[in-house]
Amino acid sequence: MTINPGQWKLGTYWDDKEPHSLEQIREAGYSCIELNLDNYKSPADTVTPENFARYDSAVQTAKRLGLEVWSVHLPFGSQWDISDLDDTVRESAIKGNIQIMDWVKGWGARVLVIHPSFEPIQNEERAGRLVKAAETIRLLSGEAAKRGLHLAVEDLPRTCLGNNAEEIAALIKDAPEAVVCCDSNHLLTETPESFIRAIGSRIMTLHISDYDGVNERHWIPGRGIVKWVEVVRALVEIGYAGPFMYEADYENPQDVVASFRAILNAYREAGQGVQ
Ligand SMILES: [Zn+2]
Repeated sequence: MTINPGQWKLGTYWDDKEPHSLEQIREAGYSCIELNLDNYKSPADTVTPENFARYDSAVQTAKRLGLEVWSVHLPFGSQWDISDLDDTVRESAIKGNIQIMDWVKGWGARVLVIHPSFEPIQNEERAGRLVKAAETIRLLSGEAAKRGLHLAVEDLPRTCLGNNAEEIAALIKDAPEAVVCCDSNHLLTETPESFIRAIGSRIMTLHISDYDGVNERHWIPGRGIVKWVEVVRALVEIGYAGPFMYEADYENPQDVVASFRAILNAYREAGQGVQ
């Protein structure tokens, strides 16, 4: 199947602390969202009936508006670190993630985005943590599959695990049901287009934003160094058929919509035929 980027759905991350309501997101022209949950809290303080009610009400609002909840970002923080060498921490994170999967299954989302670690990761612990994270990804991707969901491992910046294509490939090697979320502003040692080509068709979702290559910035595309025509080309090559999901900071939701149009126009003008 030839991919036509003009048919990619436009999406954005969203949580209920955002200044923009789901109504505003819908009106601006998005068709889907990634729901962000609370981060940095313990699993016990996150997976509560009160939080379920909060998130569930947002999901029902999105559905009523015709906004698809494509993905849910699983919580992160030191108590959610799936690479932790302390089994007690890791087991509590596993349990919390599985409980959230049961929420997500009922919401009709397809994808769960997970961070392969928290940070900083000390050099001497890296190899051991990669083994632990890979084991946990194998287990959690199997649990996700049982619920009709896909666990998407996200590339991360700095010393985090999964900070380049080679580590992401190693993390999912023994987890055939795991997929990948490509964050275009997290890679500090390679370009997003080279990451996309290296990982290929296991990329099932995106976090789109721009940066300066020095650190993550979550800028709207156009402000930083990402070569967007190259990113689109690479995504077309791998047959990417998910949404063009933004994780960019913005003041006006229309600015992100305009950036998506500008990227598609630039791709078309480069001679790649968006219809
Ligand atoms: Zn993330």
